[in-house]
Amino acid sequence: MDGGAASLKGRARFQGWLVLAVLTAAILATFFLLAWRDLTTRYEMAARQGHDTTWFIGRNVAEKFRQYDRQLSAIIGEIESAGTAAFAGEPVWHMISLAIQTTPFVRSIGLYDETGRILQHSDRKGGFPDTNVADRDYFRTLKANPGQGLFITRPFKNRGYEETIIGLARAIMTADGKFTGVALIAVSPEAFDLLGGLPNLPRDSAISIHRRDGINLFRAPLIPDQWGKDLSGTALFTKHLPTSAVGVTYTPTGGSTFDSQDRLLAYRTVEEWPLVVVVGILRAEIAATWRQDWTRNAVFVGLALIGFSWLATIAQRQTTGRLEAELNLSRRELQHRAIVEEELRRWATTDSLTGMANRRHFLEHCEREMQRALRYSRPMPVLIFDVDLFKTINDRFGHAMGDEALKIIADVAAASLRETDLMGRLGGEEFGVLLPETDTTGAADLAERLRAAIAAAPMTVNNQTVPLSISVGVAMLHPDDTSVDALFNRADQALYRAKHAGRNRVVLAEAPTAMA
Ligand code: GH3
Ligand code: MG
Ligand code: MG
Repeated sequence: MDGGAASLKGRARFQGWLVLAVLTAAILATFFLLAWRDLTTRYEMAARQGHDTTWFIGRNVAEKFRQYDRQLSAIIGEIESAGTAAFAGEPVWHMISLAIQTTPFVRSIGLYDETGRILQHSDRKGGFPDTNVADRDYFRTLKANPGQGLFITRPFKNRGYEETIIGLARAIMTADGKFTGVALIAVSPEAFDLLGGLPNLPRDSAISIHRRDGINLFRAPLIPDQWGKDLSGTALFTKHLPTSAVGVTYTPTGGSTFDSQDRLLAYRTVEEWPLVVVVGILRAEIAATWRQDWTRNAVFVGLALIGFSWLATIAQRQTTGRLEAELNLSRRELQHRAIVEEELRRWATTDSLTGMANRRHFLEHCEREMQRALRYSRPMPVLIFDVDLFKTINDRFGHAMGDEALKIIADVAAASLRETDLMGRLGGEEFGVLLPETDTTGAADLAERLRAAIAAAPMTVNNQTVPLSISVGVAMLHPDDTSVDALFNRADQALYRAKHAGRNRVVLAEAPTAMA
């Protein structure tokens, strides 16, 4: 019963925890899936933003190059139409002066003859004929290949100002197509600092402009020492740009070539010019906002889970508590019923005054014993004894004392009997005794002992001795007996004879006379 209740309670508790665990696991799985998908989305959004920004910057840079190239081409056109003498002429000088004044970020404009001497320069009318640029790569390249169009130099230090500049150079040709010099417009890289105009880009983003061959022209935030860096060996130039003009990738392991930060890189080749624009967005920055948001979400979900578990625990405790209460109730009910049944059984079989078997129970028992004795041919005597002159006791000492006398007689008689013997109250002051497995002599001896014990029983009322005695009739079961009635009739007759013979004695019944 207790084990069953405990296991029932345990099972209910286990099932409760199981449901809670499965629900929690499902919620956590959903949470992590959503968080992971959100991170992916944020990377996609950053990539799109980078992509859009490269478009904007690319268009802007292309427009600036167009502007510088227009100035350059106008001056070259003037020289080519007027002849090489125009190098140092007034009209060209005016064009150069005007271009310097009207075009932002242009630092200088210089014209060089086919040997590299400076014939005209915005800083000095008539140029610096003693200075030679024949060793400069733009000069050498354009001299070797005058038809190549605009040459964009690496950033280099201007000889006069010690300022970093980028040169845009074109070859100057004679009317018959011969190389006759170079025109160069020097631009400050700050012309391309568009980062301030891109407020939507995450705070620590970087933009850079490279020559298509991998030479860096500009980077914002500015890292002056790193201008002119050669990135031709990076995956961007070896792998990505050769296959697609526009795309998204990541900095190599170890981070950006410039500042070692891990970035998402959106890149785009500028259509008109051999230029590449790259926008780098810090991965840590993308992850940081995501981490912030999802830490907050995790706190909410955690609190919700704790609250939920708390409620579930309370609900479960109530359920198991109710179960337990019900079990206790039914347990108490069963105990109570057992007590009532025992009481009923005792009440139905026991005589309330003496505590011995009542008439019905005693006779039923005798009936069963009789069947057994007949089957196994075992002897079975019964005794009937009746208190002598009991009416006198009642009359002299009162009915209550009569009851008391009956109790004393019952106790004394019970003390004289064996475990296996059964005594019952047949009615009034008449009792029956069943002695299984006892022969005639044994029965007679016991009856005599019983009579003697009661005759010797001490009973006094108000210092007066109350004389107690019984008369006993003894009868043996006979094989011809068909019911206990016959047996008890013989015992009754023997008792009658004992009374008649003067009471306080034992009389054995004779065996039944054979019926013809
Ligand atoms: P005898 O020796 O012939 O048996 O005489 P007796 O007086 O015992 O015989 P009788 O049958 O005339 O009287 C029995 C009396 O026992 C009558 C009845 O009032 C009394 N009696 C029967 N049952 C009880 C009982 O439970 N308590 C008391 N106090 N008296 C009882
Ligand atoms: Mg009597
Ligand atoms: Mg009687």
